[in-house]
Amino acid sequence: AVRLERGGKAYGHHSVFAELDLTVKQGEVVSIIGPSGSGKTTLIRSLNGLETLDKGVVYVDGVPFLAGSQEVLNVRQKREDALRIGMVFQNFNLFPHKTALENVMMGPLYHKRGSHEEVRKEARYQLQQVGMLVHENKYPHQLSGGQQQRVAIARALAMHPSIMLFDEPTSALDPETVGEVLRIMAALAKSGRTMVIVTHEMKFAIEVSDRIIFMEGGKIVFDGSPELLIEKRKQDARLSDFVRI
Ligand code: ATP
Repeated sequence: AVRLERGGKAYGHHSVFAELDLTVKQGEVVSIIGPSGSGKTTLIRSLNGLETLDKGVVYVDGVPFLAGSQEVLNVRQKREDALRIGMVFQNFNLFPHKTALENVMMGPLYHKRGSHEEVRKEARYQLQQVGMLVHENKYPHQLSGGQQQRVAIARALAMHPSIMLFDEPTSALDPETVGEVLRIMAALAKSGRTMVIVTHEMKFAIEVSDRIIFMEGGKIVFDGSPELLIEKRKQDARLSDFVRI
């Protein structure tokens, strides 16, 4: 589970969000949607410290994990806590000179999660889960975008995170490979994973999410079930403009 309390972030004089609260419970799948520039990516990157908050505290599994740079409270990022959060990026971020298998093995080897053989076995299992074991010895440039993203998902899972963050995982993909990545994510959601997903894939968000958060101008303007979103959209012009299925 992850919780942001009174989070604030600005770039210079431009406030992205202020006093923002967000709680994602264990096993919950939460999608964050909203227009471009509303702060979705900044928010999700703030949850694992890729962006430094100015204000607020992030708790992971109830333990204070990150604090804003202006907080009096002195929370230090602990490395082990950071490892509890898995991240999947828009542009995959695989290491280009490593094979698919090596990419998945790197984190667990670096953090000494077992012997080389154990790490290899686990990495191959994760690749199999995303249907990429047949390509284990290929380099990223030999794989399609969808295949690279599936390797990136396996790489995050190999660290056994308690929560998975996805930052627009399909927006850099060719249309024909979007489906294969969404299918993997839907299976993960069904298996009880805690997930936060920034996405523009409305139909997917409605199908897999327990909750959908609609952000606009740095504010959460809707937070509720997909059913409630569909219902509310009928009365709310902002939502009906955006939520088209
Ligand atoms: P999109 O859907 O286009 O990815 P978003 O909702 O994820 O948009 P963010 O990327 O979080 O929005 O950006 C929120 C605001 O912060 C935007 O106005 C953006 O221009 C600004 N911003 C983001 N990153 C930086 C940065 N590194 N420096 C300055 N401004 C930034």
